[in-house]
Amino acid sequence: MSSTVSERDDVLSRLPIRDDLRGKVPYGAPQLDVAVRLNTNENSYDVPDEVIAAVVEAVRREAKHLNRYPDREFTGLREDLAAYLGHDLTADQLWAGNGSNEVLQHVLQAFGGPGRTALGFTPSYSMHPIISTGIGTAWVDGLRGTDADVFDLGLDLTVEQIEKHRPDVTFLCSPNNPTGTALDLDVVRAAYEATDGVLVVDEAYAEFARPGTPSALTLLPGRERLIVTRTMSKAFALAGGRLGYLAADPAVTDALRLVRLPYHLSSVTQAVARAALWHADVLLATVEAIKEQRDRIVTDVAALGLPPAPSDANFVLFGGLPDAEATWRSLLSRGVLVRDVGIPNHLRVTAGTEAETTKFLDALADSLLD
Ligand SMILES: *Cc1c(COP(=O)(O)O)cnc(C)c1O
Repeated sequence: MSSTVSERDDVLSRLPIRDDLRGKVPYGAPQLDVAVRLNTNENSYDVPDEVIAAVVEAVRREAKHLNRYPDREFTGLREDLAAYLGHDLTADQLWAGNGSNEVLQHVLQAFGGPGRTALGFTPSYSMHPIISTGIGTAWVDGLRGTDADVFDLGLDLTVEQIEKHRPDVTFLCSPNNPTGTALDLDVVRAAYEATDGVLVVDEAYAEFARPGTPSALTLLPGRERLIVTRTMSKAFALAGGRLGYLAADPAVTDALRLVRLPYHLSSVTQAVARAALWHADVLLATVEAIKEQRDRIVTDVAALGLPPAPSDANFVLFGGLPDAEATWRSLLSRGVLVRDVGIPNHLRVTAGTEAETTKFLDALADSLLD
């Protein structure tokens, strides 16, 4: 049975769906078949042969035991994640899920929910409000700066908004997506002091930060309401493997165990992630090359008269476009897919391989002549 989109919309409007989901739009970065895809901040490099061999072998070993449920506590994986992060973290401080999005959902299920409030500072990661409202948490769209052109999150404004809204869950994102800039830890400390709720610092892009950028992991000792999330989707080139994680007080992971589905991490997922972690040095070898391309984009878009935001991530947000949507389409027609994140006059581009970056920069220069 096939039906048109408008017929389905019609049926959807008649379904007894939750009122708060009516008219909502799902997360939807376009997945288009384009030669140069620089729109979702993936790592452009294929998984190296050495890691492919290790992943295949790890899955092969698991295959025989797929008749059994996986280790519900994913103990080995938690140990490997703690060892990777360092900072004297122990396995009971680590938690993982099918992508950091699932980990964030666990946090909201345990600490948010109906009658509770989550606060984030816009523009930031669009999934924070989507996951919050998806489980009935009221979302407050906080401000980053007072001037629309300022993406820096100010300490006073952060504290002021936390004190005003008294959120149960507060989201900081460092380096921030879509702006790219890492946060001063003074802001994290002040936000923690200002709230009675949990403070989530989303560090999906931490591995790409410029030298001297400290992680909020350094603040964990003595802060039992602080949660730092990470992912293997970006620097680790494992977006398809779906493995995200967090570090926090062991009591926080006990809370998350109350809401996760039993056996939420398949044996295959655990095996693939562990094989990847055992080869972290090989997988992370692309990070320096990606950072070089990022810095090249920053320099080159500035030279084109398009002001970039300073970036600690694997992408660059740049402004100065009279019509961002027209430029997005013009780039697409030249075989380059970037992201229109909905900030007027701005686009976001992922730093890919050198060849991809060259194609993007050439296409951008051409598109300005349209
Ligand atoms: C990409 C991204 C994630 C990663 O999500 P996964 O579910 O781990 O793939 C998390 N947070 C931010 C800010 C991101 O940009």
